Amino acid sequence: MRPFGFDNSYARELPGFYVAWQPAPVPAPALLYFNDALADELGLDAALLRGAEGAAFFAGNTLPDDARPIAQVYAGHQFGGFSPQLGDGRALLIGERLDREGRRRDIAFKGSGRTPFSRSGDGKAAVGPMLREVLIGEAMHALGIPTTRALAVAATGEQVYREQPLPGAVLTRVAASHLRVGTFQYFASKGELDKLRQLADYTINRHDPALAGTPGRYLGLLRAVAERQAGLIAMWMNVGFIHGVMNTDNMTISGETIDYGPCAFMEAYDPAAVFSSIDHGGRYAYAQQPHVARWNLARLAETLLPLMVATDDEAAVQAAVAQVTAVIDAFPGLYAAALLRGQRAKLGLGVALTSATAADDAEDNALAADWLSLLHAQAVDFTLAWRRLADAAEGKGAPLRALFAETEALRAAAAEPTALDAWLARWQARCARDAAAGGPGAQARAAGMRRVSPWIIPRNHRVEEALAAATAGDLAPFQRLLAALLRPWDEAPELAAYAEPAPAAITAGYQTFCGT
Ligand code: AMP
Ligand code: MG
Repeated sequence: MRPFGFDNSYARELPGFYVAWQPAPVPAPALLYFNDALADELGLDAALLRGAEGAAFFAGNTLPDDARPIAQVYAGHQFGGFSPQLGDGRALLIGERLDREGRRRDIAFKGSGRTPFSRSGDGKAAVGPMLREVLIGEAMHALGIPTTRALAVAATGEQVYREQPLPGAVLTRVAASHLRVGTFQYFASKGELDKLRQLADYTINRHDPALAGTPGRYLGLLRAVAERQAGLIAMWMNVGFIHGVMNTDNMTISGETIDYGPCAFMEAYDPAAVFSSIDHGGRYAYAQQPHVARWNLARLAETLLPLMVATDDEAAVQAAVAQVTAVIDAFPGLYAAALLRGQRAKLGLGVALTSATAADDAEDNALAADWLSLLHAQAVDFTLAWRRLADAAEGKGAPLRALFAETEALRAAAAEPTALDAWLARWQARCARDAAAGGPGAQARAAGMRRVSPWIIPRNHRVEEALAAATAGDLAPFQRLLAALLRPWDEAPELAAYAEPAPAAITAGYQTFCGT
């Protein structure tokens, strides 16, 4: 197949970090999904790729001449236990492409057959989970959250065997890179220092080129990853996203969200929310995510330490340990600052975003925390609550009150102000102070809030409904849902069905699955 304009820097510069491998041929390629906007970003020929040639490529049957498919090796802590070798068990990096803005993007297959890293797995993927990755990833992208993205999903025409036979598919994933914390762990745990240094320098050239060649570059890399992850996790938290499997092999160096397996969006606010069928201890529950990120960063720090000190000199080792510890210890502060920035935007506090004092920080942190406690106490839908708060900023309080039905009933009976009233009074006073300091008027405030708190998120029941239909051969519900997810901010009446929470019974029993 004619060349795609691929580069292959990973394959070229990092021999010994992968195995050259070919996708398994499949019987009947058919394109189920193609991302025109992303193809355009990548400068790819969309017209060509939408046709039969595209289907053959996206199913892994015919590769462009400049593809150099490889299975990358990595390790990882899974649920806290270390696996010294994981690697691409059902994925292949096909090539890289410089997009229209000059950014290097990996183009990779998922579900393209067994590799030397498959262990007991079949190397395959089913249509449902691959389209799920499209839906959640594109929703995240529309929400402005850094993420790997789906370029295409091709049906293979063969069955994969899970609990029952399912139609098979290959996903084509685009990522800033597939470098993970686990990639560093693989070489660190084997004590291969030269390779580790090569990996770190490759990573720095790719993601933090300003650090290249500087004496403090490995510490700088750790700091940069910590900053990206702090920003990323804060964004997850502010839309109610639960990743579900934050193993170190699923945490990127680039700061993109990766691996949409057992993830889900929270409905009723609950810090302990967990949907993954295998997360029995709640290790990756909603509120655990910033703590897990820090834990994962500490694992990355351990891999970088030997690069920072070339000698056995005890004092030098201690100094390096102190430096990386300072970065890890700074993570909660970075995260808290990023979270508060996002929460302020959601609370409509425009001026506070740019010129807050320490006292403002304390006040606004308490304001946000108390709001979330109110949602938790009454199991209020997280997404709708923020959205209806924007209405309240314009003086329309009834829709918000309707979400707090229980205390509203009490209020009517006892004719007494509720906890919600007390909180709203504090918030309104804070907004008034923000306005007096140059902040927006009521309508502009509400509009600003609606630009950061979505109306549409991938509701679990809608996702499942769309995937069940797609698995049975009907793509229409998937396409309609995707179209809605691409417009998360505007309250378009025709999208109302996608904004409604799932019936409580569905959410209570909802489970998501890994590696499917
Ligand atoms: P994940 O849970 O998707 O992050 O995957 C963890 C590890 O299991 C990675 O090394 C994957 O490549 C591997 N894996 C997941 N599913 C399969 C499969 N069906 N066949 C082979 N390897 C798999
Ligand atoms: Mg993974």
